[in-house]
Amino acid sequence: MTGRTHDLAAFTALNYIIATQPLPEMSLATAFVAFSANMIGGLAPDLDQSTSSLYKRVRAGSILGRLVSPLFGGHRFISHSIVGVFLVGFILDFLLGLIGQVLLVDMNLVWWAFMIGFVSHLVMDTFTREGVPWFFPIPWHIGIPPLKALRIKTGGLFEKSLIFPGLILINGLIIYYHYDRYLEFLRYYIK
Ligand SMILES: [Zn+2]
Repeated sequence: MTGRTHDLAAFTALNYIIATQPLPEMSLATAFVAFSANMIGGLAPDLDQSTSSLYKRVRAGSILGRLVSPLFGGHRFISHSIVGVFLVGFILDFLLGLIGQVLLVDMNLVWWAFMIGFVSHLVMDTFTREGVPWFFPIPWHIGIPPLKALRIKTGGLFEKSLIFPGLILINGLIIYYHYDRYLEFLRYYIK
């Protein structure tokens, strides 16, 4: 999947949670930081390759990418697994705890938004040819459907012409069917 598709998939997952789950009150700052964290989480597993779109978004990103990506042990390795999800969740919890001491933002919500993005990335990658080593260190790459030839090619026509517009449609439907929730959200939750 391309970075664009991962961004949109992360947003779709977050959007679905917003529409269907009870939400706590949050400040506008929290909502903004959580939204950004969701986007970053949706791209973070691919920090294991130097060409990741997150590196492209920062200054001197290509140098950073070449330095940092080898630490992950290779592409679609530990960062694309259940062990990786727990590890990242643990480290992020610690880091947000530190940042939370200086920034007045509900870091618990930021953590959830990031993790929703992170997991959405792994789910989306499961539909691609390469599959995902969910059970790392067991080296099996799991994919849906099991037959590799039927899975999606990253950046291919199917992703661009069906998956991406399909996700936009899903977001449209989520908002359409839960429209009053969004009004409520804007009215009561964001202060
Ligand atoms: Zn990936």
